[in-house]
Amino acid sequence: MSALVAALRGPGPRFSVEFSPPHTAEAAAVQWRAVQEITAWSPVFASVTWGAGGSSQEGTTALAGRIAAETDVPPLAHLTAVGRSAAELRTALRGLARAGVRDVLALRGDPPADPSPPGRPHPGSLEHAEDLVRLARSEGLEGVAVAAFPLGHPASPDLDDDTRHLVRKIRAGADFAVAQLCFDVEDFLRLRDRLAAAGVDVPLLPGIMPITTPRVLEVTGRLTGGRRPGWLLRRLEPLAADPGGFRAAGLDVAAQAGQRLLAEGVGVLHVYSLNRSRAVGELVERLGLRPAPVR
Ligand code: FAD
Repeated sequence: MSALVAALRGPGPRFSVEFSPPHTAEAAAVQWRAVQEITAWSPVFASVTWGAGGSSQEGTTALAGRIAAETDVPPLAHLTAVGRSAAELRTALRGLARAGVRDVLALRGDPPADPSPPGRPHPGSLEHAEDLVRLARSEGLEGVAVAAFPLGHPASPDLDDDTRHLVRKIRAGADFAVAQLCFDVEDFLRLRDRLAAAGVDVPLLPGIMPITTPRVLEVTGRLTGGRRPGWLLRRLEPLAADPGGFRAAGLDVAAQAGQRLLAEGVGVLHVYSLNRSRAVGELVERLGLRPAPVR
């Protein structure tokens, strides 16, 4: 069991955090300051996203490797299978291991918008995330996570089908699952109940995000495929011209969801940082998940 997985199963409550590889040198400097600040608050792990189609493969490996080398927090590197052969994925997994990364989030990824021929996967690429779970295991990665969708993956015909496939990929060798950002806590709790009913007891982490600006609200639309509750938009959209009011309300939404999840016994909350530390700090402090400053 990796140190990350052992910590996840250890005493809580705690938080984990998500970063994305920066696109410019200027963004990299700002981001690394955010990484340093947030990792000082002892998240269980810091995940690093992987661009669809391999666009940021080197960026993911470099950032996850730097987190492994320069902080006390284990990185969790996302890795997507789509568009890559098993041999290419093996190379990517070995590159991550060489960079000191022991844990991966095994994802299928999203096929390009206009695949050619339509709907056909890249020849030789793995078809489902569970195939990548097995590959990561066979390459000796110590910890493997998978994605879960409280409302069901958009391509799933119904929640039963979605749960069946989620259970399959966990049983293929995943240690834990990270759920897609969702705003109605009930949806997350029902997913947890479905997994428990199927006899699966790996940790399931909810995703939460402090929505500090209208631009961040737009990002939540992309992440959730537009599946956001009406109450969220009714609460935040009227504040679009009031930056202070918007930020306060967006933080309240995340804090209230976090409090409810912790009250329901969730051990680790996965916080989307968008590569910034301030709102993450305020959120985890309000939730009592940030160690008190040493005086
Ligand atoms: P799968 O588990 O393969 O599922 C995809 C669909 O296929 C589902 O409908 C599922 O029910 C179905 N299915 C699964 N297995 C089978 C089977 N054996 N037979 C038939 N049907 C099956 N994308 C990125 O590009 N980069 C990232 O860094 C990234 N990070 C993410 C982090 C999280 C926490 C989440 C929730 C998503 C992330 N994504 C990322 C998005 C993700 O890649 C897409 O949502 C993708 O469409 C599905 O990936 P998956 O791993 O869930 O796929």
